[in-house]
Amino acid sequence: MNVVETKHLMKIYGEGDNRLYAVNDVNLTIKQREFVTIVGTSGSGKSSLLNLIGGLDRPTSGEIKISGRELTTMSEEELTIFRRRSVGFVFQSFNLVPILNVYENIVLPVQLDGNQVDEGFVAEIINVLGLKGKEYQLPSQLSGGQQQRVAIARALASKPAIILADEPTGNLDSRSSQDVLGLLKKTTKKFNQTLIMITHNDQIAQMADRVIRIEDGKLSEIAITGGDWS
Ligand code: ADP
Ligand code: MG
Repeated sequence: MNVVETKHLMKIYGEGDNRLYAVNDVNLTIKQREFVTIVGTSGSGKSSLLNLIGGLDRPTSGEIKISGRELTTMSEEELTIFRRRSVGFVFQSFNLVPILNVYENIVLPVQLDGNQVDEGFVAEIINVLGLKGKEYQLPSQLSGGQQQRVAIARALASKPAIILADEPTGNLDSRSSQDVLGLLKKTTKKFNQTLIMITHNDQIAQMADRVIRIEDGKLSEIAITGGDWS
């Protein structure tokens, strides 16, 4: 099943002579359980593309279907609900709420959506991500790697179809990076999710089932690294 399907996707910033094609005619298909990395130099359009896929931003033209649902025709309200239920975001800056403890941060999106927290599932996530015993600590009491693991747990808690990660290890040392990436890969496979991750580290990119290169907003090359994504 295709979880992501874009057709002639365009994001243009500015007008007239200042038009900048951040995403330029992107046709992309990503399957369920696939782990895809997006690589490219700074300013090549990686974040713009990811933000369109996650419904954080609207395209100038083109189509985006996520799990069969077209995003471009949704109202703002529908898009907000879509983001909360179908997408988990992990950013470079962990974006945790400083006055909430680890557990409260993890369940916040589920509660915002007015849903009952699946305590068994949250306990499992906390366990898999090595956060057991840290539930009542505040983000400021944790290391960077631990904070990013909380952000991953938060992204997983609502059981979204897709996890989108924008340079999730950009603020971490190489040891914590390995740790966080390994856990991201393991948890998304375990929970049958599609993982789309931006990186500019080629070595990290090779951990994926497929590497997509973007240059001046265009997908210039798609390399299959041979991972399993059946
Ligand atoms: P990347 O994530 O690969 O570094 P981005 O998607 O952030 O690249 O940006 C792609 C291009 O679009 C860059 O030239 C950037 O300056 C431009 N850009 C991104 N966001 C905006 C914006 N909100 N307004 C104008 N230009 C933007
Ligand atoms: Mg970026």
